[in-house]
Amino acid sequence: MNTIEKNIREVRERVARCAAQAGKKPEDITLVCVSKTKPKEAILEAYDAGIRQFGENRVQEFLEKYDELPGDIKWNLIGQLQTNKVKYIIDKGLFLLHSLDRKSLADELLKQCKKNAVTIDALVQVNIAKEDTKSGVYEEDLEAFLEGLLGQSHIRLKGLMTIAPFSPDESYVRGIFAKTKALYDKYAPVAGSFEYLSMGMSGDFEWAILEGSNMVRVGTSIFGNRVY
Ligand SMILES: *Cc1c(COP(=O)(O)O)cnc(C)c1O
Repeated sequence: MNTIEKNIREVRERVARCAAQAGKKPEDITLVCVSKTKPKEAILEAYDAGIRQFGENRVQEFLEKYDELPGDIKWNLIGQLQTNKVKYIIDKGLFLLHSLDRKSLADELLKQCKKNAVTIDALVQVNIAKEDTKSGVYEEDLEAFLEGLLGQSHIRLKGLMTIAPFSPDESYVRGIFAKTKALYDKYAPVAGSFEYLSMGMSGDFEWAILEGSNMVRVGTSIFGNRVY
């Protein structure tokens, strides 16, 4: 077994353990394998180990991989998306955009969806801790943001995404996840189409699952450290 395959097995075991603790089945948690900066060969190793969900954060890199890798990969865009790049990704059949974080992006997505006669599935990124270094809608602006997207059929609101502050403080980080889960539960009936609560990365995905995440985005624990 190669290292990537072994790492995937270990991550899956950890996911399954936490899922059980949270009263869920392992398959209730979607594992998105974050392949940013990693070469095609590494992605194919993960693919051969059964992974189909991959996550990228840069449009140019995504487009190159999209062209060259198997067509049954489900691509997730997880990074901040510049409005002027929307036109390049709109017709690529993305599985999910995790980072719908502002009105200008929603407007551009709507415009490009209409132009291309497509729909896009997206998560609204929330910034619970109001960190300057992270994007995302603030808790108090979420209701208005979601309501502004009701009554149109091009952007399907599939749920919420958050990136927790980088901190070793378990109760603090879990508190952020718990708050996001509460917002998810509050607005799921409003949107009517929620399916995914995307939270948890290599350093905190176990805490996230215990607080109700059903989609984790894991890079380093599968592929090793990234060299930028
Ligand atoms: C890079 C990235 C991840 C994966 O982070 P790891 O710590 O390597 O697991 C998850 N989510 C987002 C938004 C990212 O940019």
